[in-house]
Amino acid sequence: MDFRGRQKNLREELEHRKVDALVVTHLPNVRYLCGFTGSAGVLLAAGHSVFFTDGRYKAQASGQVEGARISITKGGALAAAAEACVKLGLRRVAIESEHLTVAQLSTFEQALGKGVKVVRLAGTVEELRALKDADEIELLRHAVKVSSGLFRPLLRSMRVGVAESAVAAKLEYMSRKAGAERMSFETIVASGARSALPHGVASAAKLPSAGFVVLDYGIVLDGYCSDMTRTVHLAKASAEARALYVAVLEAQLSAISAVRPGATTGEVDRAARQELKHAKLDRFFTHSTGHGVGLEIHEPPRLAAGADAILRPGMVITIEPGVYLPGNCGVRIEDMVLVTEHGYEVLTPVSKELIELN
Ligand code: ZN
Ligand code: ZN
Repeated sequence: MDFRGRQKNLREELEHRKVDALVVTHLPNVRYLCGFTGSAGVLLAAGHSVFFTDGRYKAQASGQVEGARISITKGGALAAAAEACVKLGLRRVAIESEHLTVAQLSTFEQALGKGVKVVRLAGTVEELRALKDADEIELLRHAVKVSSGLFRPLLRSMRVGVAESAVAAKLEYMSRKAGAERMSFETIVASGARSALPHGVASAAKLPSAGFVVLDYGIVLDGYCSDMTRTVHLAKASAEARALYVAVLEAQLSAISAVRPGATTGEVDRAARQELKHAKLDRFFTHSTGHGVGLEIHEPPRLAAGADAILRPGMVITIEPGVYLPGNCGVRIEDMVLVTEHGYEVLTPVSKELIELN
């Protein structure tokens, strides 16, 4: 991993914003910039970066951290970072305003004293993370491949009367056996009328004898998240159910084909919505079309109505339109997609033909 290159990109960004350093407290950002994967540590990203952590992480930090001097603190890492800012004579120091509690900010400001100006930045490292480098794309491909491989075996556990939670348990067990560190998010298994819940996490509900089941899951491998959704049908689908499925699939394909460098994320979102409008289903598509994915499950850019982020080669995003008929049923289909120099590459290799389980 090119941690030094990433820190260099960050420094250019900070110079542009006229700040001397960024105190990085959001752990995925810390990991991205210097490689530390532990659960407590602060990176002072400056001309000469310093990573602060406590004694528990001494060995781990010296094995992992690149591009920063390591300082083992007795008190809090944040206060130590503030003291270092004073010692280095920094004048304008930025914090990650979305990732610091009110209490942490006052600790930081107290340790900093009056002479240093605190600048509130939001999303600075996240912005850099939106463009994945070759190493990251490799890791994302691997996470997608492993999690996709679990889909077919998972279907074998699905039959009438089995609890959604048992389906999730099977998936999560297989994921761990396949090397996953954890799931990317709470596994969604939403069957029957629950499939109309866009965020139907696996419940005690039993799979019905007929109807849709939305399966939305992902794993974390080497720190990188996968995310996919497939909707399958228990028993033979009625003509209406099949039409609903096809409408969502058409919307998903239409959004995917709108992915290219230079397009806005809003354009991709619109492609999905327009397709559903033709089927008079657009008002049942109640969430955004997708999101970036990487060290975290939800990252910039956001693919939503009116969003104006520009797609660039190296971004990895999800495309996941859905239609939810309240109290009745729902369908969502989600792939991970890489933005390439000339268009896109769908990373998720799982078929999107409607599967009818019996
Ligand atoms: Zn998902
Ligand atoms: Zn997603």
